[in-house]
Amino acid sequence: MGRQLPSLISARAVYNVVMQELITQLLRELGEDPAREGLAATPTRVEKALRFLTSGYAADVDAVINDALFTVDYSEMVIVKDIDFYSLCEHHLLPFFGKCHIAYIPQRKVIGLSKIPRLVDVFARRLQVQERLTHQIAAVLRDKIDPLGVAVVMEGTHLCMSMRGVEKQNSFAVTSAMLGAFRDNARTRHEFLALIKHRQAPPSAADAIAADLSCVSD
Ligand code: ZN
Repeated sequence: MGRQLPSLISARAVYNVVMQELITQLLRELGEDPAREGLAATPTRVEKALRFLTSGYAADVDAVINDALFTVDYSEMVIVKDIDFYSLCEHHLLPFFGKCHIAYIPQRKVIGLSKIPRLVDVFARRLQVQERLTHQIAAVLRDKIDPLGVAVVMEGTHLCMSMRGVEKQNSFAVTSAMLGAFRDNARTRHEFLALIKHRQAPPSAADAIAADLSCVSD
């Protein structure tokens, strides 16, 4: 796992016996022997991992932004592309992960560029569907910096699809949220999509404005 942001985990998160007992029970139901050596510490590890992977629920968006909003006289498109994200699909509790591309057009404020991947983490570290995750990232940027427009495109590989052989192993889902100028102005939208086009292109990801299905719910 790439970036580590321990500060997103509440200092008050207490590892708890109930969850570890549930995980022990789950191992037993799967036909395992929870007492064998390799599994002895697994409930503790799984709880710790799950707490980290869902730490976005407890994160405070304003604390993450931490006053990194600056007043500027600048209204050109700001783009941050290829942001890695890791999330958990809420239908299967299996990972989905990939790249997130974000653009906005400021009208008074800009946000420190390093804050943008951290905002992605706030919403990715929850149980999610890719469509909602995409929209939440766009919405928080709209609400916090009141730009002329925000665009978010996410490309995700879903292990619930690829590990279970539901779809082609290499398929991935593309979702997008276009707000303000990116929704209203086709030229602005196309400029952004052209700028995020991939070098070693997965097939025309940026062209797929309509959200693919990101996770089968069976
Ligand atoms: Zn799923």
